[in-house]
Amino acid sequence: MNKISIKLATYFFIAVLIMEVSLILYLHKNIIEARTDEEYARLLASGANHRDVLEDNYSATTIEHIAWMEANSDREVVIIDHAGNLAGSSDDDNPILAQTLALVSKLGTDTEGIVIDDWKKTPYIVSVHPYQIASGPSGYVVMFQSTRSIEQLVDKLNLHFGLAGVTSFVVLFIIYAILSKLLTRPLIRMKEATEKLSNGDFNVSLPAVGNDELGELSSSIQKLATDLERLKTERNEFLASIAHELSTPLTYLMGYSKIAMRQELRESERQHYLEIIAEESNRMKELVKNLLDLAKMDETTFTVTKERFEARPFLEDLQRLVEPSFKLKHIQLVVRCDEDFQIQADPLRLEQIVLNLLDNALKYSGEQTTVTMEAFFEKGKTVIRVIDFGMGIPAEEQAFIFEKLYRVEKSRSRTFGGSGIGLAVVKELVEAHGGRIEVESSVGKGSTFTVIL
Ligand code: ADP
Repeated sequence: MNKISIKLATYFFIAVLIMEVSLILYLHKNIIEARTDEEYARLLASGANHRDVLEDNYSATTIEHIAWMEANSDREVVIIDHAGNLAGSSDDDNPILAQTLALVSKLGTDTEGIVIDDWKKTPYIVSVHPYQIASGPSGYVVMFQSTRSIEQLVDKLNLHFGLAGVTSFVVLFIIYAILSKLLTRPLIRMKEATEKLSNGDFNVSLPAVGNDELGELSSSIQKLATDLERLKTERNEFLASIAHELSTPLTYLMGYSKIAMRQELRESERQHYLEIIAEESNRMKELVKNLLDLAKMDETTFTVTKERFEARPFLEDLQRLVEPSFKLKHIQLVVRCDEDFQIQADPLRLEQIVLNLLDNALKYSGEQTTVTMEAFFEKGKTVIRVIDFGMGIPAEEQAFIFEKLYRVEKSRSRTFGGSGIGLAVVKELVEAHGGRIEVESSVGKGSTFTVIL
């Protein structure tokens, strides 16, 4: 049994019950009051009428006439003189009438009005109308109205209200069943889905439940599940790639170190193998360093401390740092930047960005070419560019080069010694600055990487 629907049904029932009971009580009371008021008014009016007729024409015939008028209605009339002697009555045989009359005479009222109005306890409501004939007899016209019609009305009301109550509870139950289906079922499904997610099972499929808040919640959970599934796959692929990336240089290291240990090797050969070992170790060190950077960025423990500094000396320092390796490949490295141009960035992180771009430009450019790095201001933004005339990147690959461990043609990086991490680090660093990186490239012509901060 699901708890949400029980809660919902209980609240619903209590709310409707309170509303219904108060409405029924209010209507019941008011309908009966209106009806009794009507009966009182009618009784008073006919009593007053009989009294007036009696005062105008006091005679035994008039009394008889009045008694006869009421004999065939649900009212009775009794006329008595001042001493309490019966002068006329519409129903002489009615014992209840005599009893009530005794009660009325005890009241000894002199004013006109209702003397017995408790319709619940007595069979008649009673009104008294004193008459006085000028220098003649005086007494009372006593009117009786049977309370049976009011009781019948109450019985009918009880029956109808009871029926209405039962019907509304049946309707309520049907509404509850529909609500429970519409509201609680999707909620329960979502709860089950999130439990599945927390247990590491991301294979969740929630049906669409419309465009309301429930629908939004359901599609958010579905999206979360899809994202988690994608992340899980990505993580596994990433780990597999790292394992592969580390195992290749390790194989080289183990192989070449075994060869280098051979006794019979010439010194120059040993030197050559040791150089390869040093190169491969260096590649591994770079890879591990980049991986650590990426991990830090993912954990958001990574902070960017921006400061304002002169761009030109910054770029020239980098130029001096990398120039020896550029010279080895006979590549000219040019810096283009206005003398007083200032940049607002984290200098250490920006250095990492530009060095990575320069490293790629060097790796993927042929001899006797030029690589340019430039910095300038455009449309309110700082732009830093590294332009090369190297082998370029195919258009269909450009969208992926910033992904972790993505490399254009796997054989390329073997030749050029890349690991597919550099641009992923660059992208994270640029985004940590609140900027973006773009690439323009055509195969055989060269590439331009543009950092916009
Ligand atoms: P890698 O360490 O393999 O260079 P990167 O993430 O730096 O990894 O680059 C991803 C891929 O993008 C590389 O494998 C390379 O093929 C391509 N690439 C990056 N920069 C350039 C460039 N300047 N010219 C041509 N190709 C490039």
